[in-house]
Amino acid sequence: EPLLKTKRFGRHYHFYASLPSTNRTAKELARQGAPEGTVVLAEEQTEGRGRLGRGWYSPPGLGIYFTMILRPTVPLGLAPQVTLLTSVAVCKALETVAGVQPQIKWPNDVLLNGKKFCGTLTELNAEMEAVNYLVVGTGINVNQSAGDFPDAVAAVATSVHATTGEKVDRARLLAAVLYFFEADYDYWLASGFDRLRAEWLERAAGMGTTVRVIAGQQEWVGKAEDIDSDGALLVRDSGGKLRRLISGEVSLRPE
Ligand code: ATP
Repeated sequence: EPLLKTKRFGRHYHFYASLPSTNRTAKELARQGAPEGTVVLAEEQTEGRGRLGRGWYSPPGLGIYFTMILRPTVPLGLAPQVTLLTSVAVCKALETVAGVQPQIKWPNDVLLNGKKFCGTLTELNAEMEAVNYLVVGTGINVNQSAGDFPDAVAAVATSVHATTGEKVDRARLLAAVLYFFEADYDYWLASGFDRLRAEWLERAAGMGTTVRVIAGQQEWVGKAEDIDSDGALLVRDSGGKLRRLISGEVSLRPE
């Protein structure tokens, strides 16, 4: 039985032993016309990035670092939903391949036992208020042991192996992520975000809890209540007002 069960995703496939950043290479390929579903995969990233210019630690041999090129014909405002779809696909893949149930921390982190093992960085190229292309880059800590993380991330990071004690075949896990992503993405294009919002909420971490919202220089504390029909996070502030947070602009900390 073939590992890759997708129709489009991963059928155009660029593998590199080492890249500065899979998103950066994917943007170049997208500019050159690479089709939707193109996957850029690197064994290591030397300048892997998270949101807000943060680094993503990407050592060789242990993780999965890949970027998908998407060309959805949707308005700009819907683009952040793709990050949520990716997190759901990673959860489904882990549930199937490793028998664990990860949780999602809005907007882009996937957690095991409250620690981050996966992050997604979605970057947008737009023309005339519509999406031209998106690159969706995801890093997954797969076979790291707890002691493999550098001090800078050891407090927040985990891996599948550190959680289950099992080693996971990375090709199999990536094939599963692409399979679940393709199915949910095609559903999303045809039918919108509703069902996927429910699937996201089933796996959400921190709903109903008090969070510190960090938006640039501004910080405030509120209660995370829900995500909106479009994927924005709804947080009730101390004055009782429900505020909408758009991903890309803010970070959350448990309070
Ligand atoms: P948060 O939402 O927690 O503020 P973020 O979503 O903005 O973080 P990301 O862009 O997902 O952050 O990831 C970058 C951060 O993740 C880094 O600042 C670092 O703390 C942490 N990190 C870096 N590399 C890894 C890794 N391999 N595994 C887990 N966490 C990592």
